[in-house]
Amino acid sequence: MENLSPMMQQYFAIKEKHKDHILFFRLGDFYEMFYDDAVVASRELELTLTGKVCGQEERAPMCGVPYHACDVYISRLIKKGYKVAICEQMENPALAKGVVKREVIRVVTPGTLIESNMLAEDANNYIACILCDTKGWGLACADISTGQVFVSQFAASGQEDVINELSRYNPSEIIFNEGVLDQTAVTKFMKEKLHCLADLCDNEKFEPAVAEQLIVRHFSRELQDLGLQDKPISVRVLGALLSYLYETQQKGLERITGINCVNAEQYMVLDMTARRNLELTQTMRTGEKRGTLLWVLDKTKTAMGKRLMRSFLDKPLVNPAIINKRLNAVEELYNDLMLRCDLTEQLSGIFDLERLMTRVIYGSASPREYKSLEYTCRALPQLKARLADCRSQYLQEIERTLDPLEDLCELIGRAIVDEPPAALKDGGVIKEGFSEELDSLRSLVHNTKQILVEIESAEKEKTGIKNLKIGYNRVFGYYIEVTKSNLNLVPETYIRKQTLANCERYITQELKELEEKILTAGDRIATLEAETFEQVRVKVSAELHRVQATASAVASLDVFCSLATVASNNGYCRPDVNLSDEIVIREGRHPVVEQLMGGAPFVANDTALNRSDHMIAIITGPNMAGKSTYMRQTALIVLMAQIGSFVPAASASIGIVDGIYTRVGASDDLASGQSTFMVEMTEVAQIMREATSRSLLILDEIGRGTSTFDGMSIARAVIEYIADKRHIGAKTLFATHYHELTVLEDEIPGVQNYNIACKKRGEDITFLRRIVPGGADDSYGIEVSRLAGVPDWIIKRARQVLNQLEEGRTVSPAKKKPATEQGSSQISFEAIVPSEVEETLRKTDVNTLTPIEALNKLYEMKELLKE
Ligand code: ATP
Repeated sequence: MENLSPMMQQYFAIKEKHKDHILFFRLGDFYEMFYDDAVVASRELELTLTGKVCGQEERAPMCGVPYHACDVYISRLIKKGYKVAICEQMENPALAKGVVKREVIRVVTPGTLIESNMLAEDANNYIACILCDTKGWGLACADISTGQVFVSQFAASGQEDVINELSRYNPSEIIFNEGVLDQTAVTKFMKEKLHCLADLCDNEKFEPAVAEQLIVRHFSRELQDLGLQDKPISVRVLGALLSYLYETQQKGLERITGINCVNAEQYMVLDMTARRNLELTQTMRTGEKRGTLLWVLDKTKTAMGKRLMRSFLDKPLVNPAIINKRLNAVEELYNDLMLRCDLTEQLSGIFDLERLMTRVIYGSASPREYKSLEYTCRALPQLKARLADCRSQYLQEIERTLDPLEDLCELIGRAIVDEPPAALKDGGVIKEGFSEELDSLRSLVHNTKQILVEIESAEKEKTGIKNLKIGYNRVFGYYIEVTKSNLNLVPETYIRKQTLANCERYITQELKELEEKILTAGDRIATLEAETFEQVRVKVSAELHRVQATASAVASLDVFCSLATVASNNGYCRPDVNLSDEIVIREGRHPVVEQLMGGAPFVANDTALNRSDHMIAIITGPNMAGKSTYMRQTALIVLMAQIGSFVPAASASIGIVDGIYTRVGASDDLASGQSTFMVEMTEVAQIMREATSRSLLILDEIGRGTSTFDGMSIARAVIEYIADKRHIGAKTLFATHYHELTVLEDEIPGVQNYNIACKKRGEDITFLRRIVPGGADDSYGIEVSRLAGVPDWIIKRARQVLNQLEEGRTVSPAKKKPATEQGSSQISFEAIVPSEVEETLRKTDVNTLTPIEALNKLYEMKELLKE
């Protein structure tokens, strides 16, 4: 170690504190990495690995990236699961005595990104902290790019709640205490479903006293002012999260100004399975946004609106008063086309205030980003004015909260040039007229020649020396030259510097000062620009609260405008949201499927569910008839109503549900080593455990993953269990191909049969897509297989097998064919499989054949028979 160069000693001292991070060590215009970090980074970033002489025998492995392009490299490392510590030079190397002072100014981790190019504009980026001990669970989630923090706590048995909350936030990084390690359901969920970076966090960060002290210091408020009194677990988990953020961020955390204490009962329960099955923000197959409910509803114009729309979908409400408040705002905008169009247009000019403000506070906003802030502020007064006549409470509140921020607009407009360079160091950022000193320095640089001419003529006048000249050389700088003949006129203030053959050269105090100014003007201008820019930054940062409030008002307005626009464009209606236990939808449609049908008509259907005579709808009907679509559309309409959106229906009365639970289709979970049936049953078990009488259950083909009799028995038992109010008693849509279950209508009160109508003519089947009371008489599975292009051979054989099976167990004589009709009860394959001659005949269209072609065909077939 002693042999190391001083700089490498400094490197090791810093690296010691950042063992788990890749250290980006600033050296001039580069961030360099050394030793293991260099080996890893060169591999992951495809950089050339070189070596640096460091005072030891072997050169230190080294690789580097240019500082101005570091974002790209950091983001690649973050995506690969690394954390990057950024170590900066803290003083000007030119002025430093000895080794330049360096410090880590930030550790970049997936959950603490603020760079707009590393973040998805339309989604929050959360870091979560989880605490588990004998007293219960705590969860804190923060998005430092927007300053939002949510804290909640649950009972010790609240594993499922923690999992549901985590799936709501979908964090990109998690830190947790030791207690979580024993909770396999949660750790498994983190590892297998969230796929995010998860690290154990020191126990001492969760110490109650340490946590409380940090929270009180950070927010400059007491626990009760933050709503954290009597919430010891929330305090501990929030404290630990803050402490981790302080450790990694060093600065900028004043961005976090408040917290939201979340009570899980405020929101509808939506577990990850339901979110996935209902395709709220991602499609199941491709994970894209297109084809999801978000895709249909999100017509927002601002990044803040986009994020809020997503969080509306992540957190449907259960309080009809708040939902109706939202609906009133949407309705007002829905009814007033002009208002909606004006607002939408004005919103289009608004930049991402929330994240711009974060970058201002961190000191990383570029001059151009300040200009974006100014343009946004410029649009605000008009927006506010347009809202002045609104009548709904929410829109009035938005109007009141919206701060026109005219002072910020004026400040930035006055301080920063209209078209600033990308970076401060490029110069020319501060506008003329903002700083007197800067202006005079700039004019000095631009007008040096002119100033010297002026001094020259002033000196000529003062001294009466007509041929006095001002010149410049490297040794003396600026000087005044006087010919020998005029030496008698030289004033005393002139200081002689050089004698030449026929003249003398002098300097004066004024000239010396000017020279000093001219020569140092460049540096001074850069420093002054930086100082002035910093002053602007401090002034803008000081208005954080106003900007933040305005940002959230803009976001809400944007979401309401979007919901109103979508409602109007797609013919939605305002749902009546209430506390009854009924869901009555007239002519409901699937919001996404109808958009994807490219103009083909979507057949609307009614839904009526309650907790008495229409509790469980057993839906039968052919494959492809539209059972899944119908069930999902009901769930989506309820969910849309509970976020405060209009719904695709002629009318809808929605009694609030406390959760939507789904079991839809087969989803293999091979990664976790579970079979399709195992996954199905695990999900069923979870629903049976969690659902309450106020929930809505969507169950599609329960039991199909096992043998017919096992499956049917399980399905029947599940229906009986749900129907029993002592167990659940929840509104349920239950699709099945087990027609035998339709008998339950007569056996269990509250069970009703429905089927999706279709017409069968010969072998053809037409889907009517209409849901009607009563059980279906057939599955038409074979007909649908034929439509899907399954080979004829298989179709015919399947029919034969079906007949045989039915012979064995149906008592209906009408369907039974006498065994003698086929000669034997044994199925002969030759009898079923058509011969080549039969096939040729079948394919021949006799109407289009000419006589000669007919003869040829006949000949061909005879030849085939010979073969
Ligand atoms: P399976 O039993 O095979 O799972 P299913 O009865 O659940 O089939 P869906 O998947 O719901 O059938 O529907 C099949 C297709 O029918 C949908 O992709 C959609 O294109 C169309 N469809 C469903 N419902 C309607 C409707 N009401 N109006 C128009 N088209 C519909």
